[in-house]
Amino acid sequence: MRPFEYQRCDTVTDARQAGAGGSRFIAGGTNLLDLMKLQIETPQDLADINRIGLDTIDETDEGGLRIGALVRNSDCAADARILRDYPVLARAILAGASGQLRNRASTGGNLCQRTRCSYFYDTAMPCNKRAPGSGCGARGGQNRNMAVLGTSEHCIATYPGDMAVAMYALDATVEIQAADGGTRLLPVRQFHRLPGDTPERDNELDEGELITAVLLPKPVGGKHGYRKARDRASYAFALVSLASVIEVADGKIARADLAFGSLGTRPWHDPRVEQLLVGEEPSKQLFEKAADTLLAEAKGFGGNDFKIPLARRMMIATLADATGLNAAGEPA
Ligand SMILES: Cc1cc2nc3c(=O)[nH]c(=O)nc-3n(C[C@H](O)[C@H](O)[C@H](O)COP(=O)(O)OP(=O)(O)OC[C@H]3O[C@@H](n4cnc5c(N)ncnc54)[C@H](O)[C@@H]3O)c2cc1C
Ligand code: SF4
Repeated sequence: MRPFEYQRCDTVTDARQAGAGGSRFIAGGTNLLDLMKLQIETPQDLADINRIGLDTIDETDEGGLRIGALVRNSDCAADARILRDYPVLARAILAGASGQLRNRASTGGNLCQRTRCSYFYDTAMPCNKRAPGSGCGARGGQNRNMAVLGTSEHCIATYPGDMAVAMYALDATVEIQAADGGTRLLPVRQFHRLPGDTPERDNELDEGELITAVLLPKPVGGKHGYRKARDRASYAFALVSLASVIEVADGKIARADLAFGSLGTRPWHDPRVEQLLVGEEPSKQLFEKAADTLLAEAKGFGGNDFKIPLARRMMIATLADATGLNAAGEPA
């Protein structure tokens, strides 16, 4: 690990000022410290934001919830209001990492976690995300965990997290404070960036900007689910995951918010799918059409080709389950 200056912040203002001076924020440290030990991240100044507050979940005037950026993942998943009104979020968080990590990991840090591409972690290998312009080891190499949607010629890595996938399904909003104190609100569905030709930038945060909270809209109802396919039953990142909020009223689909994890280069939400499903009677043919729409531009790189049929099956089974059909999408 390279030497660095460490500053403990006591207030949001302290943190903002530290960010303006070029410090990197450290929250739970479960991702950043690992990357510093491997010298993938080499910040000169660290601003510890663990004591600045932002660790409560509060009701908003709009009837939703404001989850502070320093709320630990385990506290968020155990909150009675989240369990009652946003179970998709609790399930997604509990499907991730381990109990110890969730006790430490924060809402803001989890959103900003970096890819788990093994070439990104191996400083002896080329990687455009870690060292822009060096090439992409994964493209012609081991790409089993890589993305099939949203890739570019420069990077095919997934965003690996679970929590954010549920937040995409819920259409949450990220509250961000700039160094000058100005606050901006960004829909979470616009927070993570496609790699394009700048894969080193994972999200839309400008330098020094602090996430202060994530805002959930008022409870959306419907049936909530989170499915995660992975190599081991626990303590593993997803191969493909699916957060779903689905509602049927008068025999027709009234709501179908679906977001996928580890399928694309960012959590994946496709409004075309929702448009296709809402207002229609549930059927196998409809679900197949929706899955084909979602995956029309999907492209595998050999080792990860299996993700395309896996996501298709997962989507059809989820829609069937939530709308009362059998797993094949036929009348039960
Ligand atoms: C072994 C292992 C297994 C894991 N498995 C899973 C899994 O299955 N699913 C899953 O989703 N995750 C998994 N994780 C990742 C884990 O969830 C993340 O490491 C964690 O959520 C990061 O949160 P943190 O608070 O520790 O972030 P930190 O490590 O403190 O920070 C991460 C990044 O966020 C930035 N940051 C932090 N807070 C803010 C803020 N308020 N504003 C702006 N920037 C900020 C930091 O500067 C840094 O760049 C795993 C991690 C490990 C080590
Ligand atoms: S996929 Fe992205 S993160 Fe992985 S080696 Fe290629 S450029 Fe790096």
